[in-house]
Amino acid sequence: MLNIALFGPPGAGKGTQSEFLIKEYNLFYISTGDLLRKEIKEQTELGKKAHNIIASGGLVSDEIIVQIIEKTITNNPDVNGFLFDGFPRTYVQAYILEGLMIKLNTSLNCLISLDVTEEESINRLLNRGKTSGRMDDNEEVIRNRLKEYYEKTLPVINFYKEKGLYKEVNSMLSIDEVHKQIRNIMEEELSKHLLNIVLFGYPGSGRGTQGKAISKKYGLEYVATGSMLKEEIIKNTDIGKEIKHLYENGLIVPDEIVVPLIEEKLKNSKGVKGFIFKGFPRTFVQSYIFDGLLKKHGSSISKIIEIEVPILELIRRLDKRSKTKDCMPYDTSTEKIVQRLYDHETKTVPVIQKYNELHGVVKIDGMGTVDEVFQRICLGLERK
Ligand code: AMP
Repeated sequence: MLNIALFGPPGAGKGTQSEFLIKEYNLFYISTGDLLRKEIKEQTELGKKAHNIIASGGLVSDEIIVQIIEKTITNNPDVNGFLFDGFPRTYVQAYILEGLMIKLNTSLNCLISLDVTEEESINRLLNRGKTSGRMDDNEEVIRNRLKEYYEKTLPVINFYKEKGLYKEVNSMLSIDEVHKQIRNIMEEELSKHLLNIVLFGYPGSGRGTQGKAISKKYGLEYVATGSMLKEEIIKNTDIGKEIKHLYENGLIVPDEIVVPLIEEKLKNSKGVKGFIFKGFPRTFVQSYIFDGLLKKHGSSISKIIEIEVPILELIRRLDKRSKTKDCMPYDTSTEKIVQRLYDHETKTVPVIQKYNELHGVVKIDGMGTVDEVFQRICLGLERK
């Protein structure tokens, strides 16, 4: 999720700039002012309580704000992200926002402050008052709103400065110029988001070939646990020796060995756009470990792809591979091939089902040429 708060005194241009942010970044807009005006219009209990405070230019109680925000957020848990306008408006509300984000298992990316002078705010609001029909857009109330802003709202800046989430733009410029500054901030935020793809499919479905092609096209680090284990054996590290011993005795490599290898890989991959995971997670336990690993890395799953190939075609492909130089140690007999297919069906398919319920899995028809399948995967990845 991409969660942004637009900050600034009344008249700074928060509403105007929100319009393009919502469209360009597909964010769910939450303006506490709009929500309160709606409550007033519908003459709800909340609206009745808020009416006189808004009319005088004061700040509505945090208790009322929590109620309207919580209702809106919990009714829309599956959005791309939230854009807050006019919230948080007090230091206490900054903490409230933290709590709400935790509840959604997400966090605020940044607070963008639109900087304008007091004079400019007053002029803009007086101008808007000619057409807005808002009861609080007249000079006396405007002065009170600004007084509230400088006394109660401005300190919120420190909360976000301390967290390193405070971004400032000069809002004295034209709408277009301000838009550009905000867009730069948004692009910077987006680039921090890693693209993490998990690639599922039965052995022989083409995960390796496609995984490497995806990694190249999208600039992602390819994380294939099978290859990582093989690399350790080749490098003859202590872990490599242990893995070799396990392989020779037909034993599976325990998670205690696999997990630190992945952790190391995530830690050492600086400046990458994201990761493509192949061959992990393959069990229920590993799916929990995986979620934990990504979370620890400050990241999460972006997309899950499953390449689907009919079972007879899989057997045909694996059998064919066993007769070439690409033959893997686990391709050498029908028995081994069947065991691998069986392991996938019994251990990994339930993991895919779980992820499908949680995040949705993009199913890709794995029949056809490598290129054809790759095109389908790219389309699946680029689809919103
Ligand atoms: P706005 O549309 O953001 O200018 O808000 C109009 C009025 O609604 C403000 O002057 C406050 O009275 C009230 N209000 C809006 N958001 C908040 C908030 N987060 N906390 C307290 N009062 C708010």
